[in-house]
Amino acid sequence: MAEETIFSKIINKDIPADLLYQDDLVTAFRDINPRAPSHILIIPNKLIPTANDVEAEDEAMMGRLFTVARKLAKEEGIAEDGYRLIVNCNSHGGQEVYHIHMHLVGGRPLGPLLMS
Ligand code: AMP
Repeated sequence: MAEETIFSKIINKDIPADLLYQDDLVTAFRDINPRAPSHILIIPNKLIPTANDVEAEDEAMMGRLFTVARKLAKEEGIAEDGYRLIVNCNSHGGQEVYHIHMHLVGGRPLGPLLMS
């Protein structure tokens, strides 16, 4: 079984976070180290460590990450100008927390690669 990360504690509200959204499938909160005016993490409530671990049964949940990203981008006022959605995988992808998460980043023009 995969090891729980700090994100499980945020989902369970065992530690504080700037929580923006939560439902039965996903949770969204502001990144503690924002790289842009809007930097939000959207995560499944189920612990999936990396993109390599996504199964067919997770498709609805992973799709929910996109619909919540869309909703939050609108609320942040960045939908029209645009934003970036990023999922890092493993060490070469720059993944630090092994609970899969989508970064929603925007509020300023982004270069061709954001987190090099
Ligand atoms: P990644 O490199 O894709 O694994 O990104 C992990 C992200 O989690 C980084 O952008 C961190 O700043 C962010 N992060 C780590 N701990 C917390 C926390 N307690 N609350 C909010 N964001 C966090």
